[in-house]
Amino acid sequence: MKPTVVLVGRPNVGKSTLFNRLTKTRDALVADIPGLTRDRHYGHGRIGDRPFLVVDTGGFEPLAKDGIMHEMARQTEQAIAEADVVVFVVDGRAGLAALDKEIAVKLRRAGRPALVAVNKAEGLNPGVVGAEFHELGLGEPHPISATHGEGVRALVEAALDTLGPAPAEDEEGAAVADDVLKVAIVGRPNVGKSTMINALLGEERVIAFDQPGTTRDAIDIDFERAGRKYRLTDTAGLRRKGKVFETIEKFSVIKTLQSIEEANAVVLVLDARQEVSDQDAHIAGFIVESGRALTIAVNKWDGLDPYVRERVKVDLERKLKFLDFARFHYVSALTGLGLEQVFRSVDAAYKAATANLPTPQLTRALIDAVARQQPPRHGVFRPKMRYAHQGGRNPPLIVIHGNALEHISDSYRRYLESYFRETFRLQGTPLRIQFNVSH
Ligand code: GDP
Ligand code: GDP
Repeated sequence: MKPTVVLVGRPNVGKSTLFNRLTKTRDALVADIPGLTRDRHYGHGRIGDRPFLVVDTGGFEPLAKDGIMHEMARQTEQAIAEADVVVFVVDGRAGLAALDKEIAVKLRRAGRPALVAVNKAEGLNPGVVGAEFHELGLGEPHPISATHGEGVRALVEAALDTLGPAPAEDEEGAAVADDVLKVAIVGRPNVGKSTMINALLGEERVIAFDQPGTTRDAIDIDFERAGRKYRLTDTAGLRRKGKVFETIEKFSVIKTLQSIEEANAVVLVLDARQEVSDQDAHIAGFIVESGRALTIAVNKWDGLDPYVRERVKVDLERKLKFLDFARFHYVSALTGLGLEQVFRSVDAAYKAATANLPTPQLTRALIDAVARQQPPRHGVFRPKMRYAHQGGRNPPLIVIHGNALEHISDSYRRYLESYFRETFRLQGTPLRIQFNVSH
């Protein structure tokens, strides 16, 4: 499992600047998906060969007592409780603030590993800038500059070092579990995840169900459906009560992210009766970044009139355009409408994600695509594509070889992507295309 680094600190200390620095360079292939990168709070980072997840609690109010601020404060506290390591960002130019001390008290009580990052330290004397933050009682402060990148690598290495040695990385991500398909059903609170899980499990044989040992553990539910074995990884905070599973915990960002990472295929549940929210888009963006096979279940479709249904569909298509590779199902967890098809799409999406794409067929498809539409000239350069091979699975990575490929435009890349997608029927999986220049 990838460790989760949680960024906390009062407003304006530079958390989101640090978040962007930690996450932006990781995967240039997904960085330019429109609608995905703005205002994210969850992302993937990597230092050397050590991958990690980052959560920015920015905007969450760490101390408020009621109202929406209270809810944000609760989310921050939960993120701290579930973090593998917390990076507490303070402002080296503003100096130690009263709110910093209060956050430090919370962190020491939470008992999670925590480091202090003294930001905006560029051009300041590192020894001097850290000194006053010793008082926070969280060890040696780390001077950094989030905007310039200074000290950031050392900070993250120190943070990850608190966790002991990194586990060996699995090349295929989460794609193991031989004949068991690991499915995560995710979505924000109240979209109907537990209702859906109960509807699914009501008809199936539940083979095993582990109660979690600690609040940080996720639970797994193994079951069979139409002769196939599945493992459902919980995100909703399910507990078993008699024959039914019910949600007793509130939404957990970190469990959601971890279960997406661990899954072979993800079902993103949306609520047809609510507008698509930023939180929906953030979770969706994280799924795409993770490269997971994806199926969308738009829930609570029962009892909506045709006019509303049409409006919901148009709205979803517009706002979630970056998910157009996935199949959308309009379902009702309450009545069972459409759930069967969701499972068929889950299977199909995973099959697409792990498909074998032999070099001759890929190259043929490439040549056909180019014959239909040449890549546009870029100044004096005319990109020339020669052949393609599969560079990875789950999600499929198609590597294209040729000359002047650095001049391929984004729109042409999207054209190729949809051409490959159609040719190889890769619905339900993100698809990555990489251009290599042969020498
Ligand atoms: P957040 O509210 O904690 O997420 O803070 P932001 O990341 O939005 O940053 C707040 C302000 O501090 C912005 O104007 C940033 O440009 C600035 N800032 C962030 N990091 C640095 C840094 O390393 N050095 C300096 N001088 N300014 C920074
Ligand atoms: P979770 O927080 O995502 O696990 O959501 P729940 O499964 O607890 O459902 C939240 C609320 O939505 C409950 O009141 C459910 O009865 C209701 N609900 C769930 N699925 C449906 C559905 O398909 N149709 C309708 N009308 N209500 C639903």
